[in-house]
Amino acid sequence: SYRWPKDSRFNLAQLMSGGEGTLAVLTDIKLNLVPQPVKTALAIIHFNSLREALESTPVILQVEPSAVELLDNLGLTLCREVPEYARLLSYFVEGQPNCVLITEFYGQTEAELQSKIDKLQTHLKREKIGFTHITPAIDPELQTKVWTVRKVGLGLLMSIKGDHKPIPFIEDAAVPVEHLAEYVTRIEKFCNDLGTNVAYYAHASGGCIHIRPLINAKDATEVAKLPKITEFSVELLGDFGGSFSSEHGDGRARSWLNEKFFGKDLYGLYRQVKHTFDPHGLLNPGNIVDAGPMTENLRYGAGYRVQPVKEHLDFSEDMGFHRAVEMCNGAGICRKKTTGTMCPSFMVTRDEEHSTRGRANALRAALSGNLPHEELTSERMFAVMDLCVECKGCKAECPSSVDMAKIKTEFLAQYYEKHSVPLRSKLFADIAFWSHLSSGFTAPLANFALRNSLVRWGMEKFLGISRRRQLPPFAAVPFTRWFKQRQQQRATQNGRPPAAKKVVLFNDTFNTYNYPQVAISATEVLEAAGFEVLLPGHKCCGRPMISKGLVNKARRAAQDTINRLAPFAEQGLPIVGLEPSCLLTIRDEYFDLLPHDKARVKLVADHCFTFEEFMAQLAEAGELNLQFKDEQRHVLLHGHCHQKSLVGTVPSKQTLGLPAGFTVTEVDSGCCGMAGSFGYEAEHYDVSLAMAERRLLPAVRKLNDEDIVAAAGVSCRQQIKHGTGKQALHPAEILRRALK
Ligand code: SF4
Ligand code: SF4
Repeated sequence: SYRWPKDSRFNLAQLMSGGEGTLAVLTDIKLNLVPQPVKTALAIIHFNSLREALESTPVILQVEPSAVELLDNLGLTLCREVPEYARLLSYFVEGQPNCVLITEFYGQTEAELQSKIDKLQTHLKREKIGFTHITPAIDPELQTKVWTVRKVGLGLLMSIKGDHKPIPFIEDAAVPVEHLAEYVTRIEKFCNDLGTNVAYYAHASGGCIHIRPLINAKDATEVAKLPKITEFSVELLGDFGGSFSSEHGDGRARSWLNEKFFGKDLYGLYRQVKHTFDPHGLLNPGNIVDAGPMTENLRYGAGYRVQPVKEHLDFSEDMGFHRAVEMCNGAGICRKKTTGTMCPSFMVTRDEEHSTRGRANALRAALSGNLPHEELTSERMFAVMDLCVECKGCKAECPSSVDMAKIKTEFLAQYYEKHSVPLRSKLFADIAFWSHLSSGFTAPLANFALRNSLVRWGMEKFLGISRRRQLPPFAAVPFTRWFKQRQQQRATQNGRPPAAKKVVLFNDTFNTYNYPQVAISATEVLEAAGFEVLLPGHKCCGRPMISKGLVNKARRAAQDTINRLAPFAEQGLPIVGLEPSCLLTIRDEYFDLLPHDKARVKLVADHCFTFEEFMAQLAEAGELNLQFKDEQRHVLLHGHCHQKSLVGTVPSKQTLGLPAGFTVTEVDSGCCGMAGSFGYEAEHYDVSLAMAERRLLPAVRKLNDEDIVAAAGVSCRQQIKHGTGKQALHPAEILRRALK
């Protein structure tokens, strides 16, 4: 290594930041961080047009906000189409504005923040700015809702279906804010004249609106628009004194225009610097200087063709299986290593092949002819897909919402058309049947066999079920029998009068035949909340079959479940589930399995809630009056992956925090690694445990004996027990134990 002599004329840090990896390899970086603000507040300013919003930005900046972010019309429209986000929008968007500017202030106290928002309002009125409404957000919870929408608005934008995608090639330009409205309007007009729509997001305050024209990169005419739009943008930037790249860098999309933009002299100096640091052109070649055309090395390009497949699941919303795969834009957020759920298999293997992107790229290569088409169902492709635990982390965390869990199910269905289904997959897919058979009178014998080392050796040898795992025990009294006996008892004793409110308890296989105490606890909590509990009759929901790619079987199970639940939904009764993956299958995969019955699936799905969602809703509506013991407990929450992806953990935290003395903390655990049957499979045992050892198991080991671990997922509870010896509880059990 070489130490640069101290010389105030040089700031190597700036040079390295701007160098975009073309000058050196950095092994150690020291960052100067700024302290977090004590308090923040937002003012959500509504406008009738984008131009008005952008023209008002310099005026807004006069009252010194810390940030001004745009949520444009397309972002608002996409959010309104998703019920969950439409609900969030209703907290802070009034009427139907064209767009909003989310304006943030820092301060020491709420009073100070309120006065800043008042000052903003007065200032905008005095300056005759044509806003239609301002929603103040001082409450941190409301601010979280606003930022959630802003974040998902971007996600929804990036996950637009079809071949026209909002492509980031001029999105990093910035102009002095006084020219922002003019710059954006002229770019939009230029694009519209070419027949191209544009999407926007980002930082109005910095003069940087990320403009993304919607381009079909598989079509030659559309590809030809890329350099045209870029050159027009560069000309405008020159006129307005703007910058071509303001926060993301030049990269391959923009470097080709650097000579034109900066002029020959400056560009010549850039080349000299590059040559001085990297005389052999090894570091990030083709960026900043000596770049090729922007249409070189496109992900798709005009010659891109796919060979479609006959699909087993409904991919009509994605416009085909291949387009669901193509949702991956290659940005590689799925290679993150420390936070969130996506992608557990990459986090433990650090191998591109086992990332969401690696899988999408492999499938795309086979679909588009870069690999022979037969590779789509080859054993090598099976290996690429094998460690995907179908956690749905990517569905929620990937900016393009790549849904690899669904893609894997379709892949397995395609694969099993060419290869036989292993016996182990058939056994796990039919777990409801085996559980029914092995519980009750046969439970002692079945449990003895499962504990027997010879049987376990045989299961590993002949079925590939790890002998290091203990399969869940079968209940001598399944939940359904307990429930029936209690009803009979009550009938003979002329028991309780029927409650005015009714709820359907969707009793899944595991909480019926393996862990009936969970369903019993839920029944007792719901009854304490004033409900009469109804059971819809137990059959498998199809979740284990979906995981194994046995789609036709899963479809029959889904149809049967809808037939059983629809009459309850038609009466408007809530349907509450305990195992997140089973309940949420109804809200997610059933739409893909039963496209011919979408209306009834929607009706049922709209009435389905996790136990925690249901409790939290009752509490929010002031309709929950449970009496809890007076005790102080700490609860560590581990969210189930599907729950985190589709619902979030807020309802779980609200539910577990219902007893006044309970404090709830959540571990950023990612996937527990068990993933249904995955962790039981002998060849997956080590990977499964490595996933849990990343954050979940160490966090549990740090707890005191009296601390409670909450986990709604049955396999999560098994993994925690296996890895730490600590018995985690379902939130229903925790509430039941806390009741007076
Ligand atoms: S899967 Fe998602 S996060 Fe990963 S590269 Fe593709 S688009 Fe990016
Ligand atoms: S479903 Fe989970 S394991 Fe599979 S690719 Fe997505 S994040 Fe990775």
